[in-house]
Amino acid sequence: MKLVQISDFNHYIPGATSTGVIQNRDEAILVDTGLDREAGRRILRLLEKNGLKVKAIINTHSHADHFGGNSYIVRRTDAKVYAPETEAGVIQYPYLEPLYLFSAHPVKDMLNRFLMAEPSKVDTVLDAEKVVKLELGDDFRIATVPLPGHSPAQIGVESDGILYCADSVFSERVIQRYKIPLFMDIEMQKNTLSFLEKSEYELYIPCHGALTDDISHLVDINLKVIESVVESILSLGKGTTEEIMKKICRQFDIKLRNFTEYSLMLATVKSYLSYLYNGGQIVAEFNDTLQWRRSD
Ligand SMILES: [Zn+2]
Repeated sequence: MKLVQISDFNHYIPGATSTGVIQNRDEAILVDTGLDREAGRRILRLLEKNGLKVKAIINTHSHADHFGGNSYIVRRTDAKVYAPETEAGVIQYPYLEPLYLFSAHPVKDMLNRFLMAEPSKVDTVLDAEKVVKLELGDDFRIATVPLPGHSPAQIGVESDGILYCADSVFSERVIQRYKIPLFMDIEMQKNTLSFLEKSEYELYIPCHGALTDDISHLVDINLKVIESVVESILSLGKGTTEEIMKKICRQFDIKLRNFTEYSLMLATVKSYLSYLYNGGQIVAEFNDTLQWRRSD
């Protein structure tokens, strides 16, 4: 684990989930904290080695791999936690994630650290729909930026012309590995991608992927995935949610091996179905079961 300096104030810690570090003198603001206690411990040790105290944590969204390190760090520092509305609910009550993914009390297999991190306090709930300038004292000039789609109220963090852009875009490598990345609101995700396309930050730091000054390329490949899933659902004909999911998995060569993978893919497919239904491109028929078909 290492601290990579990007500009006078901005650093990040590359990892399975990268952590942003915004520094002012001996104080640091963290953007996300990794998957679990161990991630929190390693981040804190690295900062201490560099003579930095954690002043605050900003969580971009409520997936376990972004706030799992919170509780370790919060217990050992005076760090205040900032999180966007909706996401703040899950961060404080992580059971909500497996609960919403399963739509009922989840099977025990889903009560794992990838779907349910240790709970963390949230001191300040942020408006997720507008740019919010944070009052963190001293010379910190930090604003949160709405980036909804991957998660309903995801935010990015801007500091000194650099955007920590969370999971608003995925790298080529992530897309090759997962084929269809998780976006929970397709309409919002498309708006976020077009916002990023037009934006002019000097650098973008996604949580899963290398930093880049060329966001257009990432926007393109993420948009292509969305378009190809939409196209394939519209060409599949009639089917239940499960039938459509099965066809998509075959088409994209996705293997679902356990409840975690299954529930995340089901949420992904459902986000496309609600997007197409709300836009009038597919209709729902209730006949003992729910069947979707392309509208005439
Ligand atoms: Zn995420």
